[in-house]
Amino acid sequence: MEILEAIRTVVAGIAAQHAADVDEAARFPHETFAALKAARALSAAVPRDLGGQGCGMRELAAQCSALAQVCSASGMILAMHHIQVACMARHGLESAFFRDYLQRLAQDQLLIASVTSEVGTFGDTRSSICAVERKGARFELNKDATTISYGASADALLVTCRRAADSAASDQVLVLLQKGDYTLEQTTNWNTLGMRGTCSPGFNVRSSGPVEQILPGSYADSSAQTMVPYSHILWASLWQGIAGGAVARAASQVRSEARKKPGTVPPSAANLAKVMAQLQAVRHNWQAVAEEFDALQVSENAMQELLGLGWALKLNNLKMSVSDSVVQIVHQALQITGILGYKNDSPVSVGRHYRDVLSASLMVSNERIAAKSAAMLMVFKADQAAV
Ligand SMILES: Cc1cc2nc3c(=O)[nH]c(=O)nc-3n(C[C@H](O)[C@H](O)[C@H](O)COP(=O)(O)OP(=O)(O)OC[C@H]3O[C@@H](n4cnc5c(N)ncnc54)[C@H](O)[C@@H]3O)c2cc1C
Repeated sequence: MEILEAIRTVVAGIAAQHAADVDEAARFPHETFAALKAARALSAAVPRDLGGQGCGMRELAAQCSALAQVCSASGMILAMHHIQVACMARHGLESAFFRDYLQRLAQDQLLIASVTSEVGTFGDTRSSICAVERKGARFELNKDATTISYGASADALLVTCRRAADSAASDQVLVLLQKGDYTLEQTTNWNTLGMRGTCSPGFNVRSSGPVEQILPGSYADSSAQTMVPYSHILWASLWQGIAGGAVARAASQVRSEARKKPGTVPPSAANLAKVMAQLQAVRHNWQAVAEEFDALQVSENAMQELLGLGWALKLNNLKMSVSDSVVQIVHQALQITGILGYKNDSPVSVGRHYRDVLSASLMVSNERIAAKSAAMLMVFKADQAAV
C-alpha cells in the first residue's frame, strides 16, 4: 500500500507533468521512473525476504491503473516490468543465482524488459525460432525481436527461446540477459499511433552469459502460471486506468459547464453517468480476477490450477473484454467533451488516451486469443460458472 500511496501522491504528479512530451517525442518517461525507483516501486513484486515488498496481484494492478490514468506509457512499462519480476520470483527461487539477482534488483531498483515476440513467429508467444545454445558453463542466444518496449533503457531483458538447438518450437525457456551480456541493434522504428513512450522498436539481440541465467523449468509452465495471468490482469488494469483518465477529463468539463449555470444539470451529465457505469464494470472485472488470483495463491494446488483450461479461458475473457470496452469508454468520453476533447492542446483533450487504448486489442491480438479460446471451448466441459 505504501507504493500505491506514493504513486497516487507523488509519482502521478510527475508522470502527468511529462505525459504529453513523452507521447509527442516518443521518449522513455525517465522522470517518472526516477520517481518510481525513489518509491522502491520496481521491487514491488519481489518477495519480502529478498528485500522487496511482496505485493499481490490486486495491489500491483492498482499501481499500474493509478499510473496509467495520467501516463499510459508509464503504466504499461511498470506493468511489463512487474510481469518479468513475477516470472523470476515465482519460478526462480530454487536457484541461488535468481535469489541473489532479485535481491540486487530490489537494492538497485533494476528495470527488466520483455522479449517474447520474434520475427517469423507472427505474434505467437508460445513458439520460438531462436534457441539458447549451451557451451560448457556459458550460453549463446541471438534473437531477432519484432518489439522490445524500453529495451534501450532497461537494465536487463527476459527472453523466450527454444531450450536447445534441437528442441521443438514450443519447448521454450526464459533466459535473463543482464547489461553487459548483450548488444542491441535496432532494426525497426517505433513511430506509432499510441503508446509512443513505451519506445518499442525491433532489435537484433546478440548475447552470451553464464548458464545459471536460464530460468529453471519450462516456459510452458511459467507462461500459463505467471506470464499470462500477470500480463492479462495488469494490462487490463492499466487500460482501465487510461479510460479512467479520459472519463476524469470528461467529468471535469461537465462540472465546469454546471458551474456556469448554477442549479442546472448539463445535458452531457447523463452521458457521463452512463460512461461511469461502463468504467466501473471494467474496473470490477480486473479487480475480481486479481482477487481470485490472490486468493488462489494460498492453495497447495494453485500452480496446477493455473495450468487448467478454466483459468486460461478466464484470463482470455478478461483481456478481450477489457481491451474492447476501454475503446468504447474513451469514445464516449470524447462525445462528452466534444470539440474541446478533440483538440490536442486543450485541458480536456482525450486524443492521447484514444490513441493509447487502441493498442489494447493488438497487444497479443484479440483474434489470436479468440481462436485459442474457441479451441479450448471445444473440450472445456466444466460448469460455466468457473469462468
Ligand atoms: C504497445 C506495445 C508494446 C509491446 N511491447 C512488447 C515487448 O516489450 N516485447 C515483446 O516481445 N513484444 C511486445 N509487443 C508485441 C506484442 O506482444 C505482440 O507480439 C504483437 O502485438 C503482435 O503483433 P502482430 O499483430 O503482428 O501479431 P499477430 O498475432 O500475428 O497478428 C497479426 C494479424 O493476424 C491476425 N490473427 C492472428 N491470429 C489469428 C487467428 N487465429 N485468427 C484470425 N486472425 C488472426 C490478427 O488479428 C492480426 O490482424 C508490444 C506490442 C504493443 C502494441
